[in-house]
Formats: sequence, C-alpha cells, structure tokens
Amino acid sequence: MERQDRRDELEQELERLRRHIAELEEQRRQLERQLAEARESQAAAAMVPPTTQEELTQTLTRMLSRFARLLQAEACVIFVHRTDEDILILHPPTVGIEMPVLGALGTVPREGLVQHVFQQRVPVIVNDTRESRYPDVRILQEAGIRNAILVPLMWDKRDEEQRVVERKAIGVLMVANKRRQMPFSEEDRRILEILARQSASVIAGAQIYIELRERTEQLERAFESVSAGVILININGKIILVNHTALQAFCSGDGNVIGKPFTQVIHHDKVRSLLLTSLNEKTEVSDEVEIYEPEERIYRVETSLVRDELGNLTGVIALFSDITEIRRLERMKTEFVSTVSHELRTPLTSIKGFIATLLEDREGYFDAETRYEFYQIIDQETDRLRRLIEDLLNLSRIERGVALQPHWQRVDLSKVIERVLSIQRSYTDKHQLISDIPEDLPPIVADEDKIDGILTNLVNNAIKYSPNGGEVRVRAVREDNSILISVQDQGIGIPKDKLTKIFEKFERIDTKETRAAGGTGIGLYLVKHLVELHEGQIWAESEGVGKGATFYVRIPIYPKRARDEGYYFDDVEQHLHL
Ligand code: ADP
Repeated sequence: MERQDRRDELEQELERLRRHIAELEEQRRQLERQLAEARESQAAAAMVPPTTQEELTQTLTRMLSRFARLLQAEACVIFVHRTDEDILILHPPTVGIEMPVLGALGTVPREGLVQHVFQQRVPVIVNDTRESRYPDVRILQEAGIRNAILVPLMWDKRDEEQRVVERKAIGVLMVANKRRQMPFSEEDRRILEILARQSASVIAGAQIYIELRERTEQLERAFESVSAGVILININGKIILVNHTALQAFCSGDGNVIGKPFTQVIHHDKVRSLLLTSLNEKTEVSDEVEIYEPEERIYRVETSLVRDELGNLTGVIALFSDITEIRRLERMKTEFVSTVSHELRTPLTSIKGFIATLLEDREGYFDAETRYEFYQIIDQETDRLRRLIEDLLNLSRIERGVALQPHWQRVDLSKVIERVLSIQRSYTDKHQLISDIPEDLPPIVADEDKIDGILTNLVNNAIKYSPNGGEVRVRAVREDNSILISVQDQGIGIPKDKLTKIFEKFERIDTKETRAAGGTGIGLYLVKHLVELHEGQIWAESEGVGKGATFYVRIPIYPKRARDEGYYFDDVEQHLHL
C-alpha cells in the first residue's frame, strides 16, 4: 500500500514535471518565434531605407507597433539624441501613448532615467513606476505607465568591409505596460536589445539620408535659381552638375547630360576648349563667350579648380555670368559720346559759319532782311545747343540719383502749348503746327518749365521725324481729374516692337531717315522722367513705319506729391471732380 502510494506520488510528480517541460518547451518555441520575427523585421527594415519624412514616420510606426506586439506590451516610444543641442527628445511617432500626454516630458530631464540609460548605455527594467524617484518616470507614471524596459539605441558606423569603426548611442528605446498585468522579464530585455540595434540603424540611416537629401535639394534649388550658369565636371571630364541656364546655353541633346563626357554634350567650341585647358593644365581660366541661340547673349566664363580635403584635384567648375546688358550699355555709351560730339558740332559749325559770313561782309552786301534771317538761324542753333546741354546735365543728374525737384505752380496748359508751337513754327516751313484745345481746359498744378520741356521735345521730334513735312497736331482733353495731351505727326512712324523701347536711355531707331535727323537718344528718356515726376504716364502709338506716330501724355490736374509737399492752389482744386 505504501509502495502504491509512493508510486502514485512519483507519477504525479513526473506528470507535473512533464507539464512543466511542455510549458517550458512552449515558452521556448514562443521565444524562438519572437526572435525569428525580430530578425525577419530587422532584415526587412534594413532593405527599405525610408526616403521622406512621411516614409520615415510610417516605417517607425510599423516598427514600434511590431516591437510592442513582440514584447506583448501596450506602448513603445523612442527618445532621440540631438547632437547640436546635446538633448534627448521624444521622437514622433509614438505607439500606445499619445504624444501630447508625454509632451509634459518636453526635453527629457538631465537627471532622469532616460538620460541615465543613454549616458551609461545600460538597459533598465522598471517593474513599478510608482516606486521610482526619477522625475521622468514619475511623469510617465502619471501618463498611465506601470512598468517599462528602456534600452539604449546604439548605432554602429561601419567601413566598407562592414567592420565597426564607431559605436555611438543615438537615443533610447522604451516599451511599456506588459499586457495581462505581467512583469517584463530578462528575456524581454534581451529581445528589446536586438530590436534596439535594428531600429537604431534605421533611424540613424534614415536621418542621415533625409538630412543629406534636404541639403542636396537646397543646393540644387540654389544652383537652379542663380542667374549665372554653372557646370561642374569631374577629373574624368564627366558632367556632375549643370544648371538650367548653362544647359540651355551650352549643351546639346535632350538635356540628359549628367554623367556624360563634357566633350560630347557641350556644343560651344570655346567653352569646350576652356574646360579642356582648365582640366588638362590644372589652371583657372577666364574669357568671354557669345551665343546666338536661343538669343544673342554674351557671357563671362571663369573656371575654378575643385579639390578634395587633401588638395587633390577632383574636378573643374565653370561659372557663366551674363554680361550682355553691361556690354550693350557700354557700346551705347561709346556711341552716345560720338553722337553727342556730332550733335554739338553741327549747330556750332552753323553758328560759326553765319557769324563768319556776317563779319566778312564789311561792305554791307547782305540786306537787312537776309541779315535778320542769319541772326534767326544763329538764335535757333544756339537754342539747340542750350537744349542739348540742358539734356546732358539732366541726364547726369538722374544718373547720379539726384531727383529733379519740380517747382509747383498753377499752369495754364493751353498757353504753354501755344508758346511751344509758335517757337517751333519758326524752325520749319514744311509743317503745319496745329493746336486743338477746348476752351474750358482747367488749369493744372505742375512745373511750367518741365511741361514746356516735355512738349518742346515731343513737338520737336514730330517735326524731326517727318522729313517730308505734314501736320503736327497737339491736342489736350480732360479725362476725369487728368489731362490727356497728344502730339500727332504724319512722319516716318515707329515699328511696333520699338514703341516702348524708344523711352529707354540712348535708344534710337537706326534707319536712313533717323540717321539723317540726328539725335542722341536721351530726349524721350528725359521726357518720361519728367512726366513721371508729375505722376503721369507716357506712351507712343503708331500704325507702323511710314504711317506717322502719336505720343500720349496723361498727367493729373493736381499731383498728389504737390499737395503732400504743402502746395495749395484753390482755383485748381475747385476744378477737381470728387
Ligand atoms: P533722339 O535724340 O534720337 O531724337 P529721343 O529719345 O527723342 O532721341 O527719341 C528716341 C528715338 O525714338 C528716336 O531716335 C527716333 O528713332 C524715335 N522717335 C521719337 N519720336 C519719333 C516720332 N515722332 N516719329 C518717329 N520716331 C520717333
């Protein structure tokens, strides 16, 4: 009986042991499954490096959820070390805990547990957050965290042969709240350490990648937005980088030039030979090059040698600055000097000629009427000289940035127009100068001399550019609180594409007729400036070459500026429409 009892006991014991073994066996299998899954996800994570911020967030969310599942925990978060400020911050996304709840952590306190794990690079299991004295753990506890494991996120920097060359801590991984009120085990810690290794490489890799990409994109955008052209070639003559400007001006083909030899894609002979010289002779060169397509442009090219930190030549960069406009202005200035000299000489020659003739006439060969005519010519030519010199002085004032100050007065426009026309009539007998002004044209606030200058210039041009004579008609009409003045001729007209250009400095239309008329190309530029001083607009219309031209000037009856400067003219004011 006793033996029977003993046997039963042993069998029961055996049974218990068998069950225990089976349980352990089950636990082992479960751990193996977890490990296999962990390794699998490590491989998967390593294979697809995230490339955008959204992709990184998605990858991390997936990863943290998987970690929580593997460890049978409710929550999983990461803290990342910011090297620039040497602080640890909670890094989104979080799993199982709302980010704002943890937001109270803000920057992780220096004397906290997270900081400890990070600095000491040791994992820590917190079995009961209520018992911890760490300030951050207390915050976690208030956020509903009962227990947790924290492990450092270690990242191994490897060389090409996969040897670890640097090992650094980049943050802390934490899982919290084991399900079914269970405690975290040493086994859990071991698994979490494996997972930390995997996520560290993903986080570090992705962050470096994203940072690099952002920097590259920034550089690319900068390269694209500079107006200068840029071409970078490497030591083998392959194109590494080319921006839009350079591509358009100097490269042929479909625009797909990166990685191709520059000798194949750069169609501009001079640019090609400059790069070749720079690369072969290891020298920096500079020159000017011209292109004719898609439009005529002049570039100043400068090459610089690119070296690595050891001073070895790695490539050549060429910069192309557009100097078309500078060259154009230089050319125009040179032309201007010669036209001005010519324009000064013409009236002077004529004045000198008539005076010499009069001086020689000691016997009184010329009658009074002829002499009077000579004096008249001398007078007109002197006027022409004076106007030219005045124009030059005004131009130089504007160039120096000295604003012309209007002298505000009450001006009777019809009187000014009549006066200008009567003076201009004395210069021509081929043209009919006609004014067309309503009786009730109101007075305006303006600078009378400058209005005179505007009209003289326009009427003078109308005569000058109507070599066959014809009508020159000056109209003035009221348009609301402005006056619209027009000067219309029946002369050589203006090509449509020049209608706005003629108001630019030194701009002249170069034809047989205009050359014969002479001129400096600054008249309309000054006129426009004077009109704008009066807060007005000026424009030209023409049906085309040979069809005459009309110049329009619209100026306000009472410029705002005059009022702002404290000039009050009641009798002009009363004409304004409110
Ligand atoms: P310029 O001293 O050459 O007359 P402007 O600035 O007064 O200089 O005029 C610029 C150019 O505009 C002239 O060279 C001429 O080609 C053109 N132009 C000006 N007024 C007229 C006009 N009434 N008819 C035709 N062309 C004109």
